[in-house]
Amino acid sequence: MDLPTEFPNLTTKSAVATAGDAEYYMNGYDIIVHRTVLSKGPKEHLQPESYVCRFCGRSRPEANFKKFNAHAISHLTGNNTLFSLYECRTCNARFSGYEADLGTLTLLDRQAAQVLGKDGVPSAKTSLKKSRIDFKEGGLVIQEHEGDPIALIDEINKTMTISTMKRSYRPLGVYKSLLKMAATLLDQADVDKIPEAIKWLGSDGLTENQIDDGTGYTCLRTFTPGMAPFGQTRVMILRRKNKSIVGPAYIFFLAYGCTSFQIVLPAPQEDRHLVGQTFDLHPIPLIAFLKMDRVFGKTRTHFEKLGSTELTPAPPSIVYHFESIDAVEIPNSQSGEPPNA
Ligand SMILES: [Zn+2]
Repeated sequence: MDLPTEFPNLTTKSAVATAGDAEYYMNGYDIIVHRTVLSKGPKEHLQPESYVCRFCGRSRPEANFKKFNAHAISHLTGNNTLFSLYECRTCNARFSGYEADLGTLTLLDRQAAQVLGKDGVPSAKTSLKKSRIDFKEGGLVIQEHEGDPIALIDEINKTMTISTMKRSYRPLGVYKSLLKMAATLLDQADVDKIPEAIKWLGSDGLTENQIDDGTGYTCLRTFTPGMAPFGQTRVMILRRKNKSIVGPAYIFFLAYGCTSFQIVLPAPQEDRHLVGQTFDLHPIPLIAFLKMDRVFGKTRTHFEKLGSTELTPAPPSIVYHFESIDAVEIPNSQSGEPPNA
């Protein structure tokens, strides 16, 4: 028997599974990084005045850090306050290429959740670039031009589907952008345990010095409908307590807007004993992080392999659900005509 609970995401059956996942992590892992990150506020710098690049190993004056603050976690996740001083400009430029892949994959999700990046909430356009959707004055404003549809409204099912221009991303770029965030947040003692991953991040291109994470770069992604149901951007790194635990040494979790990502960090020396073994990737229970008054529906979870370097189409559309449609007067109508009653 499976019954709903007072939480929109949980039935009795899934509550048991979630409790099992929580127990697995409580018994087997330590939380070594756990932060909420703000989109506005005073800046925080990790390890100030180090000025040795964690990724390429170069220091001043060979490496350039001048007046430079690298986002510790991508600005795409709403981080405008947490920076590091141990990422040189050269490495930062390389990482921005991976970040572009993450940005392409998550564009419509970030817009729906109104995630505040360094340039505000992202806009989206159609292929013809006439019709567009922007975040203005506290809401999403859709401009649709004749012959260039962007929003399809279904009044019977009360849905609005936004379809934008075709975009593509490199899955391995997405993985590397997540790995880079995790590698930035770790203490040096833990960084020293994943030298192969650091070397991969410090190498040019996607695949030079590539290192396996043992799961085929499996990413566990979730989408929870609602008004930014995680509240603030949240990052977490879990470290396996000892080698008797059947699971990877390091797990990185990132949640913002409506979305969360969970990956395994490549740690071949730490995970050598797991070679040839099969193990389950347990989802980190979201229930503790979701703000229930902001959740409008059930969380969707899927496992995605991010190992490909091929350009892959990003989701072309997103579906919004609405309660009602109301006619409103548009102030400063460009046509100069009074709005229809
Ligand atoms: Zn560097």
